[in-house]
Amino acid sequence: MTSATPDALNLLLLVQEKDNQILALQHQIKRLPEREEIQTKEEEKSELLNQIQTVQSELHENERVQKRLEDEVATLEDRIQRQQNKLYSGEVKAIKELQALEADIEGLKERQILVEDQIIEVMELNEPIIERIKELENTKDGLEGTITELQKSLMQSEQGLETLTTQAEEERDELTKDVQEELLGIYDNIRRQPGRVGIALLSGSTCRGCHLDLPAVEVDRIKKLPNDTLINCEECGCILVR
Ligand SMILES: [Zn+2]
Repeated sequence: MTSATPDALNLLLLVQEKDNQILALQHQIKRLPEREEIQTKEEEKSELLNQIQTVQSELHENERVQKRLEDEVATLEDRIQRQQNKLYSGEVKAIKELQALEADIEGLKERQILVEDQIIEVMELNEPIIERIKELENTKDGLEGTITELQKSLMQSEQGLETLTTQAEEERDELTKDVQEELLGIYDNIRRQPGRVGIALLSGSTCRGCHLDLPAVEVDRIKKLPNDTLINCEECGCILVR
């Protein structure tokens, strides 16, 4: 028979207090508000990165168009230069040919003006896009700053709670030194089942563990037992303290 002296049971009640405290601290660590806030901010950031990417590819597309137009201008300038060289070289003498050359140069110049106008249009289109990217980058920088702050704060909160947990665990170890190993094992086994109370007071005929009333016959039987007999609640199985 496991001996459960009133002293040992009172110690066990204190052990349970520590266990509850440790569980609450662990719960608190898991549910720190910073954790959820970081998650939300990280999601916002990834959404923002997507937006930046979309806007940037729009800009790159425009830049490709601009590059193509600029290449065309270079080609036109080159052709104009070559035709002008030909015109002034003195090699071409026939009036008709000279007129044709002049007309060609004129046409090329007109085309150049047209393409240069298109380049300006593309550049004007890019201005608000570049602005938008800057804005989004700024927002992203702000978010990253917030995330870093939250992570710092989370770490501090965790450290604080972990210190308290270690402290409570040490206090528990100290308390259990004077509790019989067998009795502690029984208590631990009950507690291992989630949500179960390991030990509770029997007040009158009510178990404070499950708040149910024990039958009068059972209460009578318990009262007659020696005071170091281990008694468990019929309803919830917890160790009862008389
Ligand atoms: Zn009970």
